[in-house]
Amino acid sequence: MIMPEKLAIVRTVAELRHAVAAYRATGRTVGLVPTMGALHEGHVSLVEGALARGDVPATSIFVNPTQFGPTEDFSAYPRDEAGDFAKLEAAGCRIVFAPAKEEMYPAPMLTTVKVTGVTDGLCGPFRPGHFDGVATVVSKLLMMAMPDRGYFGEKDYQQLQVIKTMVRDLAMPIEIVGMPTVREPDGLAMSSRNRYLSPAERTTALQLYREMNTVAQKVRDGRSSCSEATASSSKALLAAGFDKVEYLTVVDAESLQPVETVAGPARIVAATRLGRTRLIDNIAVD
Ligand code: AMP
Repeated sequence: MIMPEKLAIVRTVAELRHAVAAYRATGRTVGLVPTMGALHEGHVSLVEGALARGDVPATSIFVNPTQFGPTEDFSAYPRDEAGDFAKLEAAGCRIVFAPAKEEMYPAPMLTTVKVTGVTDGLCGPFRPGHFDGVATVVSKLLMMAMPDRGYFGEKDYQQLQVIKTMVRDLAMPIEIVGMPTVREPDGLAMSSRNRYLSPAERTTALQLYREMNTVAQKVRDGRSSCSEATASSSKALLAAGFDKVEYLTVVDAESLQPVETVAGPARIVAATRLGRTRLIDNIAVD
């Protein structure tokens, strides 16, 4: 009888490459799911996406300091390695790469991967340096694992466009697969940061998805222009108890440039602050 394969926990790049090569030597393809841990069903859906395409799923868990700003939540970011490993094993993940900071950054980094254009708006100005940190660490993870495919969530829609642009521009031989956002039953997008929300904030948080749907309805019906619909919903979010709406905009689904009427694939994208939590979300509007 063939024993079921187990989850291999690897800490070094050499072990990761060995584990990936062993699967590829048997003719299998490998799908990498980069994460920062504190895993939830959204992350698990990416592992399932890899399985559904026939890839051996490999997940990385690394809270990457270079993508956090000096006033952001790097130290407070939730960490639960044992819980994460159990969830990955149950989901059918076969390799988890959980490196120490010294393994990811053994020497001061003199190289940065910078994607322009799609990083100019939305979260770009609110999180200076964030997408450089993301593009650089994701490049490293892709070079370290050399997977056939990389799986990323549409939840971080701008990040997904940044990664797709980077892989295209640098001709990385890896297919990037975007996966739909997994939501709580009431509609709140799952996020590791949702655990920062107090019960009252958790109730308020739901309004973000509701207002994005209101914008979608209005612009689909042609009842309002995009800017009228988003201005009215931004007001509604502030009235509902959000502390700040950094942006609530309708953008072209690929270029991320704002649009005033929806003529092709578009996305309603939002970033807000509720107490100490920054909440982002987006939905498609066609
Ligand atoms: P993070 O651990 O927050 O860096 O996220 C790791 C990956 O999981 C990214 O590709 C995210 O876009 C994706 N992800 C996070 N939340 C969700 C969600 N609710 N649904 C689908 N994918 C998600």
